[in-house]
Amino acid sequence: MSERLPERIEDDIKEILLSAEQIESKVAQLGEEISRDYQGKDLLLVCILKGALVFMADLMRRITIPMCIDTMAVTSYGASTVSSGVVRIVKDLDAAVEGKHVLIVEDIVDSGLTLSYLVSYLKNRKPASVRVCTLLDKPDRRQAPVVPDYNGFVIPDKFVVGYGLDYREKYRNLPFVGVPMDRVWNGDGEGPA
Ligand code: 5GP
Repeated sequence: MSERLPERIEDDIKEILLSAEQIESKVAQLGEEISRDYQGKDLLLVCILKGALVFMADLMRRITIPMCIDTMAVTSYGASTVSSGVVRIVKDLDAAVEGKHVLIVEDIVDSGLTLSYLVSYLKNRKPASVRVCTLLDKPDRRQAPVVPDYNGFVIPDKFVVGYGLDYREKYRNLPFVGVPMDRVWNGDGEGPA
């Protein structure tokens, strides 16, 4: 079946959960908090690709202390939206984290399986500390006991896109976080779990 492409991706969104302005002021607040908490520490921000890319880019510019970045890419859901519980590392860190204060930057914590795996994976590499900063927290479907150290917004159990989050690799470029119209997945009968 050929893919239906809207003229503007906004046309595929039925509800805006978080506006660009709300996100901007929350990210500024998180940046201030992190700058205060990590003063004098060797901070390494680890961006979990691709979902956290937009959040990371904005957050790091709100951090006022010296810091470094690295990236990891993992698969949790693959092409589906149902968590398999299996996390595969597609791209590992570029450099060692020994002795560094690692802050994992993630788009959303849902079941918690991805983050609980990543936290223990990184703790095995002898960092000074490992903490987690998420933009969104969807606590309703939690399976692993993950509580983000920093979180932007707690949201209801809805599948969201935008500000880095995708549905089948699309909608990451929306400047806000929203819920797609039903027709987005009605095309092939598949939808989020
Ligand atoms: P978890 O392992 O916590 O169940 O899932 C975390 C990953 O699932 C996130 O990094 C994200 O890629 C994906 N995910 C979970 N909920 C949503 C959602 O509502 N929208 C999108 N686009 N991805 C989600």
